Amino acid sequence: MQLEQLDVKDKKVLVRVDFNVPLDQEQKVTDDTRLRGAVPTIKYLLENGASVILMSHLGRPQKKKLEDGSIDRQSFSLKPVVNHLEELIGCQVAFVEDTIGETAKEAVEAIEPGQVLLLENTRFYAGEEKGDRDLAEKMAALGEVYVNDAFGTAHREHASTATVASFFTTDKKAFGKLMEAELEGAKKLLHDPARPVTAIVGGAKVSDKIQLLEKLLDLADNVLVGGAMAYTFSLAQGGKVGNSLVEADKQELALELLKKAEVKGVRIVLPVDTKVGKEFSNDTVSEIVASGEIGDEWEGLDIGPETIELFKGVIAESKSILWNGPMGVFEMSNFAIGTNAIAEAVAAATRDNGAYTLIGGGDSVSAINQAGLAEEVSFVSTGGGAMLELLEGKELPGIKAVNG
Ligand code: AMP
Repeated sequence: MQLEQLDVKDKKVLVRVDFNVPLDQEQKVTDDTRLRGAVPTIKYLLENGASVILMSHLGRPQKKKLEDGSIDRQSFSLKPVVNHLEELIGCQVAFVEDTIGETAKEAVEAIEPGQVLLLENTRFYAGEEKGDRDLAEKMAALGEVYVNDAFGTAHREHASTATVASFFTTDKKAFGKLMEAELEGAKKLLHDPARPVTAIVGGAKVSDKIQLLEKLLDLADNVLVGGAMAYTFSLAQGGKVGNSLVEADKQELALELLKKAEVKGVRIVLPVDTKVGKEFSNDTVSEIVASGEIGDEWEGLDIGPETIELFKGVIAESKSILWNGPMGVFEMSNFAIGTNAIAEAVAAATRDNGAYTLIGGGDSVSAINQAGLAEEVSFVSTGGGAMLELLEGKELPGIKAVNG
């Protein structure tokens, strides 16, 4: 159901958001993309007379317990998010130091329509990540209506993202606006996209992206492969890769993909040159060599200038573009040149050719932000893993639970 169809007036609306944001040592939010992503839903609910109860996870408190085995409530509390959120939505946000139970119930009862309450980290309860029914039932008891706007965790079958929805009838649950936008973004690529469709895939491992690559063979006209992934393809084709990051056991897979692409008429474009360094550091000596000709002492850390031109040419001719994964070790400025050039090219295709361009989450989002071009592409996804699974054609548990 759509948010606009829900009756929220004077209702306690339980909203699962994704406030899993990075905090610095002073517990200040260093990247508020996810907070900003939830603002349209929160504002809509406030304007329509709802009492808004927000719940989210933050980090992995169950995996990083204190020495005595207890939860590190200090480091993983959502409380530091409150001030930043208040600035974004322009009103006060109450906070309660529990997610369920009497304290949470009292806090929920105390808020009025037009007010916001943030519950403590859902992952303080071990049942959250197990999708525990008891925990989910207790969460559900806090709201009359449930809204899921946590796209970043929609691929997890957790108590607050999936199980909780089973306690609400279909007329009492809906997706939030961020979730709608993410689903719409993926749909534009998956269903009848403007052609040619080009996917740019990079990052560290072939194995992480194998299902995406398989799916792309049914969707894309061109697949540009960059990042460390490309060296596995190069190795499989008999190239020399020196000390580059490769997955030696994925060579067969790489060759199979190339064969399948040929049969399906999909053009996989591999790098023709690469920027190599002696060590994995920004200030290492570096040079440009042809692909497959990396010396023993060297490792590939970025795509080279000829590859940049080759990729730019394909991007400029595309009408739909998906980008997932950096072209090199973009965290180091001397090896961010390829990634930045691709960011520029994707922005230019959006601006000059009206191409639909989707940045598919994770590190490509950091890369487009780093290049200052996030506003110049069609859509920047807030969910790395979730967007990947959506594009791979999977039904996400968080989505199924609201639809079902
Ligand atoms: P992923 O999460 O799979 O998209 O991978 C992103 C990571 O891949 C980033 O941290 C990059 O630094 C890394 N990466 C990209 N290219 C290379 C490369 N040539 N060598 C090592 N790491 C790389």
